[in-house]
Amino acid sequence: MSQLRVTVWNEYRHETHPGIPADIYPQGMHAPIAEHLRAQGMNVRTATLDQPDHGLPDSVLDDTDVLTWWGHLAHDDVSDALVAKIQERVVLGALGLVVLHSGHFSKIFKTLMGTTCNLKWREIGERERVWVIDPSHPVAAGVPETFEIPRSEMYGERFDIPQPTSLVFVSWFQGGEVFRSGCAYERGRGKIFYFSPGHETYPIYYQKEVLHVIANAVRWAAPAPDAPAPVYGHVPVPLEHVTSNE
Ligand code: ZN
Repeated sequence: MSQLRVTVWNEYRHETHPGIPADIYPQGMHAPIAEHLRAQGMNVRTATLDQPDHGLPDSVLDDTDVLTWWGHLAHDDVSDALVAKIQERVVLGALGLVVLHSGHFSKIFKTLMGTTCNLKWREIGERERVWVIDPSHPVAAGVPETFEIPRSEMYGERFDIPQPTSLVFVSWFQGGEVFRSGCAYERGRGKIFYFSPGHETYPIYYQKEVLHVIANAVRWAAPAPDAPAPVYGHVPVPLEHVTSNE
């Protein structure tokens, strides 16, 4: 198979101002994610909100098999035209989409889900324990049955999403809540994976299990090679002989 083309998109607003996210991710959260995916042999570029066309002109989208998405402060700054374009490319063009953490409230995720994508949250640095719920799913490949994130932001149920095609991970938080932290969807020809760990004030995107899951999700969401394009519309001539009753 030819090299997987991945675009790691990051809002990149937290890390461009002095503060904890900039201290942890001086090159942006997209940097360690992109570095890990490159180490897996993928052809990776990064794109950020404040670049021209949000870093995603047609030339980049045309050259992307899977797009990863991290946003938080500036969901509303993403142009509706770009969101419509990505939606169309997912549903009709089989562009893979991996939505991370606070990307649950991004325009593109809410558009594709059709729900509010609201949830509970709390930021006190508590422990998160991620459980593999569907060990046969490709995104769980090589992931231990359970792993800990020492300090995480609590995301809790209810998470207002449609029922996932596959629920791959569930997280437990020290404070008692649980959350569907790894959800796989199919929308039209496209595959979408949501993975919740990744709050900007903790070094979560340096943790090996988290990076491993993201790489698995990217591979899983990639378009199937040579998948036939579906055909729609009026079919005036039947394939078999039909004795008409008219
Ligand atoms: Zn967060």
